Amino acid sequence: RYKKKMAFQNNPRTNTQHALNHFDMYYSNYYKELWPSIRISLLSQQKYCALVNHCDESTTFKTESILSDLGAEDFIQRAVDISTDLKTEHSQSIETGSLLTEKDKLIGSDDSDKDNTQPSHRSDSIVFSSNNEPIDEKNTSLYDFMPTNKVYTQREFLHQELARQNTFEDTDYPVNVITEDIPRIPDTLKAYCYKRGNIDLFPEPTISRGNSKLGYYMMDAASLLPVIALDVQENDNVLDMCSAPGGKMLAMLQYQHSGTLLCNDSSKSRLQRLTRTLHSYGNQTMIDKVTVHQDDGVTLNEPSFEKVLVDVPCTNDRHSALEDDNNMFKPGRMKERLQIPALQKHLLLSGIMSCIPGGSVVYSTCSLSPGQNDGVIQATLEHIWKETNIDISVVDLSYMQKLFKDTFSFYPSCRFGQLVLPNLRANFGPMFICKLKRIK
Ligand code: SAM
Repeated sequence: RYKKKMAFQNNPRTNTQHALNHFDMYYSNYYKELWPSIRISLLSQQKYCALVNHCDESTTFKTESILSDLGAEDFIQRAVDISTDLKTEHSQSIETGSLLTEKDKLIGSDDSDKDNTQPSHRSDSIVFSSNNEPIDEKNTSLYDFMPTNKVYTQREFLHQELARQNTFEDTDYPVNVITEDIPRIPDTLKAYCYKRGNIDLFPEPTISRGNSKLGYYMMDAASLLPVIALDVQENDNVLDMCSAPGGKMLAMLQYQHSGTLLCNDSSKSRLQRLTRTLHSYGNQTMIDKVTVHQDDGVTLNEPSFEKVLVDVPCTNDRHSALEDDNNMFKPGRMKERLQIPALQKHLLLSGIMSCIPGGSVVYSTCSLSPGQNDGVIQATLEHIWKETNIDISVVDLSYMQKLFKDTFSFYPSCRFGQLVLPNLRANFGPMFICKLKRIK
């Protein structure tokens, strides 16, 4: 006999507790000895950076001196200095032939490369409902890339979810990894943060006399990495597929390129926040280059953009660990949460379709879930391989670890992308980024 009532009372009640239980069960298994440090960082005060607004050159200097006086440093321009050194190394390596070049490096074509200790998430099929009623598979796109023929109980299902959210099966298909030049970072992209270990906060930016716009925008510093990886060039037309509330849009506007920027999102209220941000920070030139669309990203498929940013909805792990409101781990949102990887894959596929051959797509999440990160990249590459004539390569972003070694803590073992891990001394992220180049 056991005390049923006791067991029930010990169940987690709040959404954040549900999230933490989930993370403890699944992430501890995946991140192993790194997990306790990641966990405490997720629960501790997040660090922000102050992105300098270059809409008006005359006031930028003043903003920068305010930020320097606070003791913050421009970590982007520090990375630029490192990149100058790396570029020299890089071109020397190309001359001596010691770097991998396009199509040299293949992932998944060699069995010795596989970690056979990882459980496979594709070996079983799943149908589930939270009250143990089977979900109508026809109405859910969740597992559309998995065989589905069995009804699981909730307990069995949760075990499946563990496997699916926290690992992925190595691909049977060879994946090209290409090396590109380290991106050019314009000197108008500046962002200040405090040194490692310093958890001071920035004051709210205000509109001072002589300024019509806000001087800086506070955001997770790791959110700048997808923008830097995208490497916007002077005449690029850019699609920001899931753009609201607009932090990455604002960072892209600092490039001051002459192409266009289409900001799409499916949420009207979040797009209203994006528009407010655009008008609080942007000068007329910036405002004129932005078009705002409210569309379901999965419907976009016209190849018209040189660069596409797919910053997908995800389990938003830091928020889920800290805030009960709008929490993906609310029991009533389980079906929605379980559909996330499939939605992410569809959004990424649409991003690839919207990109012209020769263009690039950057995929990003703020989740630690391998199933939402490398797992989505792999499922998408497999889909492209099997179902389309499109040719895609993964772009090696490992230079990010060198450029930003003083600012971020990176997970060393991602398969396709780069992942910033929350760390007590550099409490940014999580942020996963992966870049794909559309060859044809
Ligand atoms: N890129 C934004 C920024 O830097 O401020 C953050 C994007 S947030 C991680 C994900 C966004 O995806 C949310 O604003 C959400 O409304 C949007 N979204 C969710 N489903 C979508 C869909 N099917 N199509 C387009 N946007 C979607």
